[in-house]
Amino acid sequence: MKIAIVGYGTGGQAAALALSRDGHAVEVFEQAEQLRPIGAGFLLQPTGLAVLWELGLLDQALAQGRRIHRLHGENAAGRCVMDMRYEGLDARLFGLGMQRSSLFEILRDAWEGHADVHTGTRIVAIEDEGRRLRDAAGATHGPFDLVVVADGAASKLRAAVGEPRLDRPYPWGALWCLLPEGQWPWPGELRQRYRQARQMAGFLPVGGRPGDPTPMLSFFWSLPAAELGQWDVEGLPAWQARVSALWPQCAPWVQGITEAGQLARAVYRDAIPAAWSRGRVALLGDAAHAMSPQLGQGVNMALMDALALRDALRAHDDLGLALADYGRGRRAHVAVYQFWSRWLTPLFQSRLDAVAGLRDLTFLPLGTMPGGRGQMLRVLTGTQRGWFGRLALPPAFLTRLQG
Ligand SMILES: Cc1cc2nc3c(=O)[nH]c(=O)nc-3n(C[C@H](O)[C@H](O)[C@H](O)COP(=O)(O)OP(=O)(O)OC[C@H]3O[C@@H](n4cnc5c(N)ncnc54)[C@H](O)[C@@H]3O)c2cc1C
Repeated sequence: MKIAIVGYGTGGQAAALALSRDGHAVEVFEQAEQLRPIGAGFLLQPTGLAVLWELGLLDQALAQGRRIHRLHGENAAGRCVMDMRYEGLDARLFGLGMQRSSLFEILRDAWEGHADVHTGTRIVAIEDEGRRLRDAAGATHGPFDLVVVADGAASKLRAAVGEPRLDRPYPWGALWCLLPEGQWPWPGELRQRYRQARQMAGFLPVGGRPGDPTPMLSFFWSLPAAELGQWDVEGLPAWQARVSALWPQCAPWVQGITEAGQLARAVYRDAIPAAWSRGRVALLGDAAHAMSPQLGQGVNMALMDALALRDALRAHDDLGLALADYGRGRRAHVAVYQFWSRWLTPLFQSRLDAVAGLRDLTFLPLGTMPGGRGQMLRVLTGTQRGWFGRLALPPAFLTRLQG
């Protein structure tokens, strides 16, 4: 088929690679003038790693990223309030902290067609019943057999499959950046510290990137979205003092930030589309399921979407049946994550002190209870499917992880 992909983020990258390997003629449209990743780092879960394994890219990712075995959260007094270890679910499992540029380059270099991406091309409309795209300069592109909308959380094209059931910004966002790992004391852990839900700092080891093996940390500082535009009016030293007061041990790393411009701002959205597809148009990645990054699943979900779309197109000659199959399968996995991230985010980013107090009382005991521990670890690893189901990871992939 002739397939257009709108957006060259993780979802668009994975879809371009997987679909062109299956012999489809893929054309990608990206609004940025240059192909590049945005943001600091992220945590790949076993589900995302399984996709990279299937694409033959796992070894490259493992060579760059940092294996993460534990998620540890503590309150402002340093008392542990959350402690989740992958081995509690399966001794072979771990997460992989990665720099955004690292995964970006691995996926880009695996796809020969990346040199032909239409950069600087913002798509503003899908026309002719999904056959053609119109860009901001007024040019039309196509005809296509299928249009994959992978234009991210703030998707303007989401409505092409019908009026979204939900599409709203979260009231909180974050500042984030990469910092040299140096003598960081917890290289195999995602570490977070909270003051109620008003303040949260997080450090994730993300390893090196192709061409620069210097190991880095992805640093995250939570803020109300309304304050993101003026977080530095008090000056960088005053802000650094505030972060260091929450987490004195991290002061040397935070002091390493020399100018406000090093910190990127992130906002997130909560979106449920009308459907995953309509006619010749299919949504993929955050365009299909924008959610807060609290559960760290968005990149993993985008990778899984790409493979699911490929598999649905392999399984059905009829496009309508293929897209229905794709949407059904992915919705069954994604819906519970959207639910949990919607309800859990205020526990970590809000002014609800009582709710944060409840979090600090319950999370640790819940994580040690037999039923609760498995449930929490399945949500963490991305392997929860629906309320009670499990997503099976391929045995050969698990053997590879063990190796
Ligand atoms: C602070 C933060 C931390 C996160 N941490 C994690 C984590 O640890 N683990 C995890 O799995 N996920 C994490 N996420 C979520 C993750 O970043 C996203 O879910 C993921 O990047 C979505 O990929 P995507 O390809 O769908 O969208 P994007 O990466 O947003 O890509 C969309 C692309 O489309 C382009 N585009 C947009 N509109 C148009 C248009 N009209 N025409 C052409 N091009 C267009 C954009 O320029 C962009 O390149 C985090 C997110 C944030 C903000």
